[in-house]
Amino acid sequence: MKTNQYPGFHKLSVQERAAEAAEFSGLTEEELGCLTNPGALSLETANHVIENVIGTYQLPIGVAMNFLINSKEYIIPMVVEEASVVAAASNAAKMAREAGGFTTSYTGNIMIAQVQCIGVANPFFARQTILHHKQEILDIANAKDPVLVKITGGAKDLEVRILDSQIGPMVVTHLLVDTGDAMGANAVNTMAEAVAPTIEQLTGGTVKLRILSNLADHRLARATAKFTKEAVGGEDVVDGVVAAYAFAAADPYRASTSNKGIMNGIDPVIVATGNDWRGIEAGVHSYCARSGRYTSLTRWEKDANGDLTGSVELPTPVGLVGGATKIHPAAQACVKLLGVTTAAELAQVIAAVGLAQNFAALRALATDGIQKGHMKLHARNLATVAGATEGQLDEVVAKMISAQNISVEYAKEILSSL
Ligand code: NAD
Repeated sequence: MKTNQYPGFHKLSVQERAAEAAEFSGLTEEELGCLTNPGALSLETANHVIENVIGTYQLPIGVAMNFLINSKEYIIPMVVEEASVVAAASNAAKMAREAGGFTTSYTGNIMIAQVQCIGVANPFFARQTILHHKQEILDIANAKDPVLVKITGGAKDLEVRILDSQIGPMVVTHLLVDTGDAMGANAVNTMAEAVAPTIEQLTGGTVKLRILSNLADHRLARATAKFTKEAVGGEDVVDGVVAAYAFAAADPYRASTSNKGIMNGIDPVIVATGNDWRGIEAGVHSYCARSGRYTSLTRWEKDANGDLTGSVELPTPVGLVGGATKIHPAAQACVKLLGVTTAAELAQVIAAVGLAQNFAALRALATDGIQKGHMKLHARNLATVAGATEGQLDEVVAKMISAQNISVEYAKEILSSL
């Protein structure tokens, strides 16, 4: 496969798809085996990753096609249990491609570590005292991670905030650390612990928590895309998507589900690449509430030509080194399949996938409704649960859809009549 545009890719067998994807990304036989072999993560390795290991757990890996991001073609590995996610992402990427695909940018790999200091008599004076000693504090932090300092410069800056709280004022110092290609939680937590005694000395207070923030708003990935009115099915559809977005922008109940649809695209890539999906979930949802009211992560507008334009900006605490990213053989193979070489590139791909997934969901909601496409794939799952073999699946699914009865019981009834 030379291009990620491959009509009929979904009709290939699993083995054929895997071979085509491996050719596209230059995966070796061994690397491909890490994706196709259910035992890629050995029990021995798993036992080093978490505690009390009793086994491993499998999920499907699919690949989203058609993505063009900053003029580079990607196939996107997605580890997910929900039907229709991969198909919807591929379809949205195809539509975006007609106007040039996705354009992205990134603010840098800067993570925040928070140091909470309480019992400070004069917090405003203390704040400035900490800032006067910025270089001394950064030097203490950096002494903890010479490897990171060599690669990125490590801790770069400080912010000091004063918070009113139930237990009185708090002086909260943010260490801003360039964590390079690492997500950086361990790296910045170690630094936060190291600077705590100096902050106590400078403020006369007591340091309590020393921990990163997942609201990584110095580590933002941005993506935009244009969908021509012709590609999406007309100006009515453009208006429908804008109206659907306006609902999410105005209402936290709707925003919650709209943003879940965005995470349908993002989380599977996070999982595939061995990253911390709880961290990115926490970051995204807190970023959506930063104004004080929870709202949509994306924005959708109609441009002067009547075409649809979408944009997204999100915190992206993700990495290619550290944590489990280098331990899980399938995660390593997925990173190679994706073809990203830096955390910055991964972050921007994630932003583009999130935008694509949101577009697909809003377009479906604004036109046929979400169930039409979803139920077809859901019917396949239910037919499998009912015991349909590979050869029976298409017929059972077709009958369920034509009878508009998508249930395991009905699938069993069809099977018994075959
Ligand atoms: P880590 O400590 O395993 O690796 C990071 C270290 O790798 C750096 O400190 C540096 O010394 C070294 N390194 C080598 N090459 C590098 C490069 N090119 N760029 C950057 N660093 C390089 O991992 P981490 O990223 O600090 O922490 C990630 C782990 O922390 C994940 O497992 C995550 O689940 C976990 N965690 C997350 C949270 C959270 O709130 N999200 C909290 C605690 C822990």
